[in-house]
Amino acid sequence: MSGESVSNSPYDVVIIGGGPAGLTAGMYAARASLRALAIAGESTVSQVTVTDHIENYPGIPEGINGFDLAERFKTQALQFGLEIASGDVTTIEKKRWGDRDGFEIAAGPMRYGALAVIIATGANWRRLGVRGEERFIGKGVSFCATCDGPFYRDREVAVVGGGDTAIQEAIYLTRFAKKVTVIHRRDRLRATAILQKRALANEKIAFAWSSAVESIDGLDLVQWVRLKDLKTGATRELAVDGVFIFVGLTPNTDAFRELIGLDRGGYITVDAHMQTSVPGIFACGDCIAKRLRQVVTACGDGATAAFSAQLYVEEAKGEAY
Ligand SMILES: Cc1cc2nc3c(=O)[nH]c(=O)nc-3n(C[C@H](O)[C@H](O)[C@H](O)COP(=O)(O)OP(=O)(O)OC[C@H]3O[C@@H](n4cnc5c(N)ncnc54)[C@H](O)[C@@H]3O)c2cc1C
Repeated sequence: MSGESVSNSPYDVVIIGGGPAGLTAGMYAARASLRALAIAGESTVSQVTVTDHIENYPGIPEGINGFDLAERFKTQALQFGLEIASGDVTTIEKKRWGDRDGFEIAAGPMRYGALAVIIATGANWRRLGVRGEERFIGKGVSFCATCDGPFYRDREVAVVGGGDTAIQEAIYLTRFAKKVTVIHRRDRLRATAILQKRALANEKIAFAWSSAVESIDGLDLVQWVRLKDLKTGATRELAVDGVFIFVGLTPNTDAFRELIGLDRGGYITVDAHMQTSVPGIFACGDCIAKRLRQVVTACGDGATAAFSAQLYVEEAKGEAY
């Protein structure tokens, strides 16, 4: 690798990602007196920063804007001595630092040395790419029923998708919404049989089969979606207060594909200590294979990853006790 090296002595730990997982890992690492750097994405942002209102993060009963919460994470981590840089990491390579195993991380022209690495690069919800989708995020368009379902008590919502996540979330949304219309491109669901059976038997769930969303519309908030019948070509409007889009989640793990173990969906596989398939590389947050992707779980994973990295680095330096 060539490029500008920040220093000849490696960081104890370099964290890739500046979201809740990365900043929590950074705070724990720095507070444990490790020399720690977090590299936050330059061309990407943390999912939490685009979240209008978070009301399920413990300890903040009044709720908080996602951007403000991210700023608080940052302030707290900096307070304990975490260094923060910005850059898009493209590779991690194994490298010897004196008599120790370690890594070199490339982000644009910069090269960072580390004894341990924590990957916290998150994931992105796939978009439909239709008019109104971006504009109404946080104003009726959602990618998370756990996050936003309770805002739709006694309202009518649409769920886009026909796979396991879409159907599971449609069923969950019937706890709040008075009607949930599942919009699916095909004339039958892809979800597993048990979920299909439950959804089809649920009186609150209706189906718009063989239909695609053409646009999401309204004044300040979502009021309707325009649907196209893919068999007849006819279009119609469906009045809804919210649209939940579940057409897939893409983990930001392409850069690490060659180095560490991923599952079939591209998520990083870790053990309970956030250890990946490569000793010295840990991972946490939305980019790992797990069930619940939330701020609180990202923070929990981040704390565990930092503690595991701390034990690893102490062992590598002969400081373990
Ligand atoms: C619209 C919306 C609403 C939500 N509402 C809620 C809610 O109400 N409650 C809740 O708990 N959760 C909510 N979530 C989920 C929550 O935002 C995520 O679970 C959480 O942000 C995951 O944290 P993370 O640190 O793993 O990933 P992220 O927050 O996505 O952060 C990933 C970080 O990695 C960086 N990165 C990515 N690739 C690279 C790279 N190659 N090099 C360097 N850096 C990189 C990014 O720039 C970013 O800094 C919501 C999500 C969305 C999209």
